[in-house]
Amino acid sequence: MRFEHFQFILRRSFSTLSALRFKTASASPARLRSPGISLFKIWQRPLIFRINVLKSASTKAKEDDSNDNRMSFPDKRNEDEWRAVLSPEQFRVLREKGTERRFAGKYDKHFPDEGVFNCAACNAPLYRAKQKFKSGCGWPAYYDSIPGAVSRHVDQSLGIERTEIVCSNCGGHLGHVFKGEGYPTATDERHCVNSISLNFTEDEQKGGGETSDAGEAAAKA
Ligand SMILES: [Zn+2]
Repeated sequence: MRFEHFQFILRRSFSTLSALRFKTASASPARLRSPGISLFKIWQRPLIFRINVLKSASTKAKEDDSNDNRMSFPDKRNEDEWRAVLSPEQFRVLREKGTERRFAGKYDKHFPDEGVFNCAACNAPLYRAKQKFKSGCGWPAYYDSIPGAVSRHVDQSLGIERTEIVCSNCGGHLGHVFKGEGYPTATDERHCVNSISLNFTEDEQKGGGETSDAGEAAAKA
């Protein structure tokens, strides 16, 4: 009898414990979830707010960087000063990111053995004649530039991401660079440059010879 009584007590204890555990388990989600959601809601708003703030700050920082970059070129002439020394078409392309008509540029079919293509705005040397190749694209194409002479920026102006190239000395717009098109060149890159952004000189020594020290430093960097 004592053993049976002991068994009875054990069963009661077990069922009581099970009931308690079930009660706790069934109650726990409700009790824990509510404050969890509340906390989540409380923290979600500032978190999203913070993310949005960070995103907008990041976007603004990029825009500021872009503007700062444009203002940080060694040649800091303002737009009025550029307008005074460039032709209207040069100004449109170099300062307003225009594009000359396909096959219309003077250097599209110009393939000298030696020489340098300088920036038409500031005269900094940008490309060597040997870096030019026949792409058939309708604009002068170079597989590489003089080291440091050309800077790259992300350009999303047409709703697609392209890489704009500008003169590292004055920020003048040159064109865009495309990669992985399969041209049999050392870099598989095509610097697609507007002829009007360039001035060619046969004398390699004169490449950028009339530009400022900053221009030469930018080209040699
Ligand atoms: Zn330039």
